[in-house]
Amino acid sequence: MRKFKTESKKLLDLMINSIYTNREIFLRELISNASDAVDKLNFKGLTDSSVQVDQDSLAIRLSVDPEARTLTVSDNGIGMTADELERNLGTIAHSGSQEFKSENAEHQGNTLDIIGQFGVGFYSAFMVAKKVRVVSRAFGEDVAHVWESDGLEGYTISEGERETHGTDVILTLRDNLPGEQGEPGESFETYLTEWGLKDLVRRYSNYVRYPIQMLVTKS
Ligand code: ADP
Ligand code: MG
Repeated sequence: MRKFKTESKKLLDLMINSIYTNREIFLRELISNASDAVDKLNFKGLTDSSVQVDQDSLAIRLSVDPEARTLTVSDNGIGMTADELERNLGTIAHSGSQEFKSENAEHQGNTLDIIGQFGVGFYSAFMVAKKVRVVSRAFGEDVAHVWESDGLEGYTISEGERETHGTDVILTLRDNLPGEQGEPGESFETYLTEWGLKDLVRRYSNYVRYPIQMLVTKS
């Protein structure tokens, strides 16, 4: 297992432990990453004449398996090599999180608002997931790789399989939390339903320029 860098670990701890009411923004973050990945492939197609991109096939797909309690966000974008998985998901490098960290130092009491204001990115998946598995195949590569983590100490990267280029981010949702002293508990069930996901897509990802398809296995 490879260990998370200190700054990543801090953000992950915050994601996992804060009683954050706006957990639902995780889907916006994952869809925006999927959309960026498709953009990058599109750009490659425009700038490199040897790369043919079938415009009609470009899409983002949400699929749910209620029995396994998994929600998967898939794209057929640029994908990631093993090195890129390591670099992009093992460390916090992007500007949103950097700003978030320095702001956070000044507003200790106010972390909740701050999470909502910045693009907190990929790690926000751990607000709703106890395990995240990323299966990715970079455009032009034959092999796929799997990045997997419970968001605590570290992650693993291994070889895997994927039919075409692109990425699947597979979340195993956290267990529902019981309420305390008459308070309602917290349920992650919404993220396993078609209406729940459609609602989030409508509220947070309306601007995305690729089709967002939905596949819900009826149990
Ligand atoms: P940001 O999107 O602000 O760069 P994130 O934490 O959301 O930060 O993602 C970190 C990086 O991981 C991205 O910059 C990108 O390089 C990579 N990444 C995340 N999701 C995907 C994806 N679906 N396809 C390709 N690369 C991805
Ligand atoms: Mg992002």
